Amino acid sequence: MKSAQLSAPRTIQIANLESLTPNANEAVIAVETAGICGTDLALFSGDYPVALPLVCGHEFAGTVKLLGNAMDTQWIGKRVVAEINNTCIAYEMEKPCRACELDMPNHCLKRNVTGIINHDGAFAEEVSVAGGTLHEIPETVDSLTATLAEPLAAAIQTFEMTHINNGETVVVLGPGRLGILIVFVAALKGAQVIAVSRSEAKRKRATSYGAAHAFSPESADAQIKNLTHGLGADIVVDATGSTEGLVQASQLVRPRGTISVKTTCGLPEHGLNITKLVVDEIGIQGSRCGPFQPALGFLAKHHEQLGKLITSVRSLDETQSALESAYYENKVVIKM
Ligand SMILES: [Zn+2]
Ligand SMILES: [Zn+2]
Repeated sequence: MKSAQLSAPRTIQIANLESLTPNANEAVIAVETAGICGTDLALFSGDYPVALPLVCGHEFAGTVKLLGNAMDTQWIGKRVVAEINNTCIAYEMEKPCRACELDMPNHCLKRNVTGIINHDGAFAEEVSVAGGTLHEIPETVDSLTATLAEPLAAAIQTFEMTHINNGETVVVLGPGRLGILIVFVAALKGAQVIAVSRSEAKRKRATSYGAAHAFSPESADAQIKNLTHGLGADIVVDATGSTEGLVQASQLVRPRGTISVKTTCGLPEHGLNITKLVVDEIGIQGSRCGPFQPALGFLAKHHEQLGKLITSVRSLDETQSALESAYYENKVVIKM
């Protein structure tokens, strides 16, 4: 089976690997589509160092082709997406680790992560995953749009960790690939959403995905203070992954509000006023992988609008150039 391996930073090699055979609690999926996200770009550039060679790709859709002998045969031939963490629970291990025992499988101490940590991913004709990660795709959602289930689940997880109370104000800094999904989810949850972006096109798009307002970073402080009676926003999501974003989040959030950090970035060394965070009793909340069932529910309902976020489709042979152009595009999907 053909796969696109990351053999060294910025180097994809198309390789012919042996067809996969599933372990007892695994499924092998014939991949149809696999989306590229910021994590893939961090792996590709080497900013997120992992053991190479690695087949990246963790946002995918496909059809179950083979099952391990402990798996329920009803999965064969089903169109599926899969969660990325292959955990004690997903593998149905007899002795789960402490995190899985405490019902935090996404923090499993023994996990591997499809396409990221110690487990080849979906920029390939086949991918194997732990059986417990599978979710059937609703009939109305095509395989291209279904690749958005994983990032949409991550967007939903933002507000699983930080609940939105009635009509609260949520500021999203950086309404890009993931940020736009966060705007969309926050608006569906009834928040007054304010997007902040340098890009006029992104500000415009954010308003069509549910933001009540969209401002440039320069005007955001005054405008948001104005909209919140001088107090600041209840929740500020930083999806920029930059020091500037985090600094601005700390300026925009209200006392006892929450900064939700969504992108992995190094700790800022300059500019973050830690005293303000202490004095204003600000909460800082990280979040990542989220629940797939509500994500698939949103996709079933809003697939037409969400599908428009996909900006181009490339072949597996074009994985190298697809990754390179993903730096400048919203969502590139590889189609096998
Ligand atoms: Zn991703
Ligand atoms: Zn575990």
